[in-house]
Amino acid sequence: MVEPLSVSELSAGARLTVDLAAIQANYRLISGRVQPARTAAVVKADAYGLGARAVAPALYAAGCRVFFVAHLAEAQDLRPILPADAQLYVLNGLQPGAEAACAAEDIRPVLNSPEQIQRWLAAAEVVGRRLPAAIQVDSGMARLGLAPDDVAALAANPEVFERLDVDLVMSHLACADTPDALSNPRQVAAFAALADRLPPRPRSLANSAGSFAAWADHGDLVRPGLALYGGAPIDGLPNPMQAVVTLEARAIQIRTVRAGDGVGYGLTSVADHPRRIATISIGYADGWPRSLGGRGAAWFRGQRLPIAGRVSMDSITLDVTALAEGALQPGDAVELIGPHQSLDQVAHDADTIAYEVLTRLGRRFARTYVGGAASVAPETGG
Ligand SMILES: *Cc1c(COP(=O)(O)O)cnc(C)c1O
Repeated sequence: MVEPLSVSELSAGARLTVDLAAIQANYRLISGRVQPARTAAVVKADAYGLGARAVAPALYAAGCRVFFVAHLAEAQDLRPILPADAQLYVLNGLQPGAEAACAAEDIRPVLNSPEQIQRWLAAAEVVGRRLPAAIQVDSGMARLGLAPDDVAALAANPEVFERLDVDLVMSHLACADTPDALSNPRQVAAFAALADRLPPRPRSLANSAGSFAAWADHGDLVRPGLALYGGAPIDGLPNPMQAVVTLEARAIQIRTVRAGDGVGYGLTSVADHPRRIATISIGYADGWPRSLGGRGAAWFRGQRLPIAGRVSMDSITLDVTALAEGALQPGDAVELIGPHQSLDQVAHDADTIAYEVLTRLGRRFARTYVGGAASVAPETGG
């Protein structure tokens, strides 16, 4: 399944393959599930590290018209490469001084405070038209959005909705991936009560987990991120999404060590028998979690090869004793994320979440995009 590294890819230590067709299939799976609600795509943090310039156009080709990023700069990066009917929202809100750029570049702020609403109203005054925006209310996460008192004040001042084109009222769930959390039904109810106080507008509450949870209200628009990129929407339940990412790195040296010999920094891995150790060119500087030292693994020809010792900056060492001698040669690629070892498994072994593993995968890899109808070439280099 995994092809050998090509000559050009050998100049990098590792290869990250992003399956755009799988992202599109995941988009369609969610869309079908939640309709008549519409499905947006969260492409913040460079599409969770996978390359927003390649991913967002592929999602557009799959029918997505609403995109969320975290920062204005991320929206500005995508605006020129997405067609005009793609809507781009900035989740972290309207920062002071960003008003003119948002208005000029057709970027929609998610207004998170009364003060942001005032500045967007002032900007609308300046440009002489109703500017589009989402309003976020805090339904119980205490992170972003209008507090209940702010919502009451806004409800008493409905002309805001005449002077601005508020096309979405949204909130965010704190515990969506914990199906039994009592906060879930509480937040659903709190969001409905807050939104009911405002003039009727399309509503959005659900992230990936909320798009799959039995209790969830899909509202008018769901906002998945992780599930599009192949992560399990609800941790611990079977993952219905297609895998998107394959990560392979090449073996650079193989040696035999004696019983009692330590391996790697700190010499933390010592065995009472002779072992074969393979050094692989991926390390924490590539985003491979250092917490996988002594715990994680890579795969080669269906064989799990445990990481022996610590994760170095540029390499890891694998115990390859289970392979026949000579089966793994310098230059061969081992699988780190792929058919044998899922993203969620790596996150579990690293004692973190799939989000963190994905977004940390570095820019040092040779990146390959397969499938999909991306109309824009991904960034090269790095
Ligand atoms: C990141 C984010 C999402 C996407 O969450 P996933 O769990 O990746 O689906 C949705 N909404 C908001 C407000 C977010 O910050």
